[in-house]
Amino acid sequence: MLRHTYSVFIFFILLAFLFFTKASVLLYVLLIVAFLAITSWGAFDIRLNYFSTNICRSNNKKDKEIAITFDDGPHEKTIEILDLLSKYNAKATFFCIGKQIEKYPKTVERIIAEGHNIGNHSYSHSNWNGFFSTKKIASEIEHTKELIAQLVHKKTRIYRPPFGVTNPNISRAISRTNQVVIGWNVRSLDTVIESEVLIFERIKKRIKPGSIILLHDTSAKTVWVLEQLLLFLQSEGYKTKTIEELLDIQAYEITNNNQFVQANINK
Ligand SMILES: [Zn+2]
Repeated sequence: MLRHTYSVFIFFILLAFLFFTKASVLLYVLLIVAFLAITSWGAFDIRLNYFSTNICRSNNKKDKEIAITFDDGPHEKTIEILDLLSKYNAKATFFCIGKQIEKYPKTVERIIAEGHNIGNHSYSHSNWNGFFSTKKIASEIEHTKELIAQLVHKKTRIYRPPFGVTNPNISRAISRTNQVVIGWNVRSLDTVIESEVLIFERIKKRIKPGSIILLHDTSAKTVWVLEQLLLFLQSEGYKTKTIEELLDIQAYEITNNNQFVQANINK
């Protein structure tokens, strides 16, 4: 059972307790505020698995293997990112936005041709995604999946919700479209922090075997950070893997017999 279901259950038990013990209004207010605070935390922190089951790292903590993931592309900077990955013989995973795929179709083809994974990151990446209906979120997932399939003949089944936000509608859309949600456990904050050095130091401190690192292939800053990161990983003996390799899951639908291969998410 998801954590959201538990907390709703506990909320109603406590509400009933307050009602039967004729508690003061203040206690009702405190309970509601606490419930709303927990729900918002659950919506914004993908690692909590509050509304959906999200994979945020590999359970293999022995091998020095990690996954680098890029959100919000393809973008003009993705070419430089791909050049660097190729120079250091590294593999990564790109969670692409449908609208961006329409602008940079050749980049999508190159991502696949060079052995990286492609995931779905919605069609519009709207700031209002958290308020969309289940139907709207599912149709964005399907639309982006179709755009990717038209270019590279692969139907991706790995999804990262915009901003890492989850809620009941997003969770329903994910199960309706058979997606596996991939989160992260190392957040670079590369779209927030100005200094490249600080971003790199932040990532370096947090890397452990099995980590999934979140970056964005949308700025020159990230290109610089990536090169430092790849040099660091090389010197520490880390291998970079795609999400498919790191988690030992199927990133794409098996289309030749029209069957899904279920991800072994317990690995
Ligand atoms: Zn994003």
